Amino acid sequence: MHSINYGTKELFFELKQSERKSLAIEVHPDNSIKVLAPLKSSLKDIKKVVLTKSKWIVKQQSYFEQFLPKTPEREYVSGETHCYLGKGYILKIRPGTENKVKLKGGCFNVEFNGENSQQITRNLLAKWYYQHAERKFFYVANQVFQKFKEFEVEQPNLEIRRMTKRWGSCQKNGKIIINPEIIKAPTKCIEYVITHEMCHLIQFNHNKKFYELLSQKMPNWEKWKNRLEQTLS
Ligand SMILES: [Zn+2]
Repeated sequence: MHSINYGTKELFFELKQSERKSLAIEVHPDNSIKVLAPLKSSLKDIKKVVLTKSKWIVKQQSYFEQFLPKTPEREYVSGETHCYLGKGYILKIRPGTENKVKLKGGCFNVEFNGENSQQITRNLLAKWYYQHAERKFFYVANQVFQKFKEFEVEQPNLEIRRMTKRWGSCQKNGKIIINPEIIKAPTKCIEYVITHEMCHLIQFNHNKKFYELLSQKMPNWEKWKNRLEQTLS
């Protein structure tokens, strides 16, 4: 990873040098920047060119930004709709004997013992989502992994971690990180994110081969990617 400074921003980019005539810059939907440069270019010259393009890079990133998950302002009061696996459920908050969340009859029933506040409801729901995300993601990951058996890769470790700008990521050591937010989207969207990350076990970068592999493992992935963007925007 290299970086340049543009105003108050530090733009990180991945550099790939190869037999090519000119320099190209790609900005990906996960806001990553990739620079393809001729073999003979020096890092200093490359950075110079990237700097002249930084205004365009930032513009591209802000375009993609709108599709990245953001948490809408929620009030955590009765009557509000919250999603789970692509369906909306009405929040019903009432006093009870313990703090708990139960999904029943099209509703998120939240019971609290003692004082209730937005914060308590928010935390109870977050915990509920996290637990269900854990179960669901591991289940889907096991299923998706069956499609990758031909590659003799080890089943990746899965970690659930809240990320502000990404649904998932794959590390060089084979660990896959999934954003618990996607539990709000339909199962197929979760399958898309996990399939995408598992394709990175074979093709680390977003190159042509990567997208060929992704289309082979999930032919209609674009549909579910769009659906995910709509659900979580
Ligand atoms: Zn990716």
